[in-house]
Amino acid sequence: MVSGEMAVGEVLVSSLTNGRLGPDPAPHDAVPVGCETPRVHGEVSGSLFDDLVAELEVLDPTLAGSATQALSDLREQVEEQASAAAALLDGHDEGAVLRVPKGRLADLQQCERLAVARHARPDGGPPGVAALRGVALDRFVLLELTQGPIVDPLEELLSVLDVQGELETCDQVVAAASAEPGFADDLAGAAAVWRGVPKSWWPRVQSPAVAQLADGRVVCSGKLDVELGGVLTGHPGVVVEVKSGAPRPAHVEEVALYALLVGWRDGVVPSLVVRWYPDHPAACLPVDAGLLVSAATRLGDAIGQWAQLIVGRRPGETPGPWCRWCPDAAVCPSAAATVEPTRDGAEDPGDEVEWEPPVDEVGP
Ligand code: SF4
Repeated sequence: MVSGEMAVGEVLVSSLTNGRLGPDPAPHDAVPVGCETPRVHGEVSGSLFDDLVAELEVLDPTLAGSATQALSDLREQVEEQASAAAALLDGHDEGAVLRVPKGRLADLQQCERLAVARHARPDGGPPGVAALRGVALDRFVLLELTQGPIVDPLEELLSVLDVQGELETCDQVVAAASAEPGFADDLAGAAAVWRGVPKSWWPRVQSPAVAQLADGRVVCSGKLDVELGGVLTGHPGVVVEVKSGAPRPAHVEEVALYALLVGWRDGVVPSLVVRWYPDHPAACLPVDAGLLVSAATRLGDAIGQWAQLIVGRRPGETPGPWCRWCPDAAVCPSAAATVEPTRDGAEDPGDEVEWEPPVDEVGP
């Protein structure tokens, strides 16, 4: 337990009795009517929601319409590739389901051998601090969207992880906080920009978007960090990928995939996909047909690629910055020369290793 902090169990009792995730605010945290407590974590200096609405207001509304019209052709194209992949699998393992979650697709685009190594060792050991900061930031955003200002980042993070059944992650967070107190406090402050999203935009977090292709033989899935608006809300859809690490070109491909999966799921594409990094302006990308075409092409190619690897093709080795978090870095002859392999590969705080405790591979 972190010195001076409540144990996880105490936090839970507190949550059960007051209906709030997190500790009871101490008497000095009480907020007089009309005043804001100085203990609240982070200041709202320009709402992220206002920035998103401003982006939507200048968006050409025909873009999302033509992108939505492209959905069925793109589905057909990827269905064909998925059916071919299923047929390939049948010669090897009759009826097997090929899973291409977002994380695997990203791995495949970096290095095939990395993707295979991660698949072979799904439990790659406990997450490093960079990965835990990513987990923490997602939960801080959730708290700001659904509950209100964060008073005690560590305790509220532990509470929400516990509610989500992530008991092991609670222990890992406690260990990280013992070694480095306040290891994610800056992220709690940054998440304050998420305050004030109107309920009419129906903010959702960690919602799944799953495409079952080839009669369920191929499943592609992703978990959306934040969704606003969209069908049934009367507002244009916005999907936001929350990143605690440094901006990377691959993140653009992630949000493009989300646009495609949400389009297939809802029958309407989101108008905007966004990457949000703390202390950076939101990076907004209008969803148009070109974005969907590139996402569908990458997905179809990855499905074929993964099927070949599953049936035994030797994986290629493509060294790059990702060698730092590769499970095979210590034994791979192609490992980038500058790589210092680490147990979980997350020594550089600029790298947010894609890691989620529950199920990366959502879907059946
Ligand atoms: S060390 Fe680098 S090149 Fe080798 S398998 Fe891992 S990611 Fe690929």
